[in-house]
Amino acid sequence: MNQSSGGCLCQKVQYKILSEPLSQGICYCQQCQKSGGAYGSPLLVLLKSQFECATENLSSCTTQSDRGSSVTRHFCKACGSHIFSQISDVPDILTVKAVTLEDFKNFVPQYLVWTKSAAPTCPLPNDVPTFLQAAPLELVLGQTT
Ligand SMILES: [Zn+2]
Ligand SMILES: [Zn+2]
Repeated sequence: MNQSSGGCLCQKVQYKILSEPLSQGICYCQQCQKSGGAYGSPLLVLLKSQFECATENLSSCTTQSDRGSSVTRHFCKACGSHIFSQISDVPDILTVKAVTLEDFKNFVPQYLVWTKSAAPTCPLPNDVPTFLQAAPLELVLGQTT
């Protein structure tokens, strides 16, 4: 995957990703559950500069995370699909909801985070590094040494 693209359910919001993500994982925090309407949220972590998305059909909502930073979620005004989020602590980074990718079926998580709030009936992938809460920032930013 060098370049990829995706969009919302109604196709009013379309985006392009210009290079490989820094990392990819699945978040099971309660905020992702609520905003995604799902057990968990597969995410790509990207440099903001590698993401192209027209903003005219986007709406957003900002909430506080457990760690005190603010998270702004951007979603399609028309259909409500959640497309990407920005976290105030890391302004150059954004997370894209991988389910909105054209080729989501090729998504392979590198880590699972916030599994302490995963529902007991939620199937978790095997053999993936798993964190009860947030993963170390170096892992999320792909800075493995
Ligand atoms: Zn839409
Ligand atoms: Zn989350």
